[in-house]
Amino acid sequence: MLFATVLMTAALAFGSAWAADSPEAQVVTLEPMVTAYGELGLQLTWNCLGPELRAGKGWITLGEVVRVPATIERTGTLGALVRSDHPFLVRELGEAIRPLFCGGEVSPRAEGAGPLCHEVRWEAAPKQITVVENELLDDVRAAVCGESTWDTIPGGTPIQDIDGFLATCPPAEELAILERDFPILFQPPRRTRDPVYSCAEPPASMRELSDQLAIYQALRVIRHMRLSAPLPWTSLHPYDWLKSKIGAIVVSHTAKYSHCCIRVLPLGRTEPAIAIVLQKAAQELLRYRTVWRDPRSGVGLAHLILLIFHEARHVDLPHDCGDKDSTLSYMGAWGVQYTLAKMLSEGTIDVGLSPAYREDMAFHAQELLATRFCEGK
Ligand SMILES: [Zn+2]
Repeated sequence: MLFATVLMTAALAFGSAWAADSPEAQVVTLEPMVTAYGELGLQLTWNCLGPELRAGKGWITLGEVVRVPATIERTGTLGALVRSDHPFLVRELGEAIRPLFCGGEVSPRAEGAGPLCHEVRWEAAPKQITVVENELLDDVRAAVCGESTWDTIPGGTPIQDIDGFLATCPPAEELAILERDFPILFQPPRRTRDPVYSCAEPPASMRELSDQLAIYQALRVIRHMRLSAPLPWTSLHPYDWLKSKIGAIVVSHTAKYSHCCIRVLPLGRTEPAIAIVLQKAAQELLRYRTVWRDPRSGVGLAHLILLIFHEARHVDLPHDCGDKDSTLSYMGAWGVQYTLAKMLSEGTIDVGLSPAYREDMAFHAQELLATRFCEGK
């Protein structure tokens, strides 16, 4: 009996130490469950740092999207325990919790407030979120992540060495797939001098280069990417994700910069497609794009690949801070570009890069992080 009492005291003392007395000590626990109406939900418990929060009724939002009523309990002078009164619906959370369940670095933001509107905001690090592993977790994952293709290579084989790969032309059957998935149109249409696709090995020594060759080599590299972790914004392979967002690429003779998105009707199609618009490239730039990175200019096919993803991301998200993105976790076009560069530099996306190419990608990623986000990280 005495023993039990001692144990209980110890547990209580330990319990008060759990109170979040610093931002790092905060913890969110998500428990998959089924709601009264038979829907998949997540019950949320937030051990937060909120000295001003008063015990009682409040509310909590997750991922800036969904708000549910909550009950606040004090756990000490600094900490509070916020519990959602009913579960968040997985269906409503969608994108906000995708990184948490489908892999990736970005985590949802939690925000809570008490009756007097004292607010607590928090962007959780992944290790500060615990998902209760019960029998519903797989269902939640399937509902949030959807079809998962990130770990298959659409092109069948990984790239051993990028320089060797880019010295070859797309095989006829692969070119046919690329042309079907991403028809290339020129704007304004029906010019007499639109470039014509041709390829001879190695492309770098061809005399006249076409925009189509550069774009199809870029898409071919994407098609052969081998991932060891999913992209943070989708569970699809990068090529499949691109295909799910755009159905054509427009090369513009007149655009002042590359952009997104316009509707086009590719030749022989009955349904219009969403296209990104790339600026027509001069011969000099097309020559740089025959290789991963031209050593003199520092430009190459790598940048075209990143540009394609950047523009395709605009199908879903605009820049939300002038021509920058607010934060990396917004995962807009700059976030996508940064993440790809980082994953390429780390080899999480493997395209047979040399250590020097990877270093260059790491540098580019750092540059993006330093210059393209309003709120730093
Ligand atoms: Zn942009």
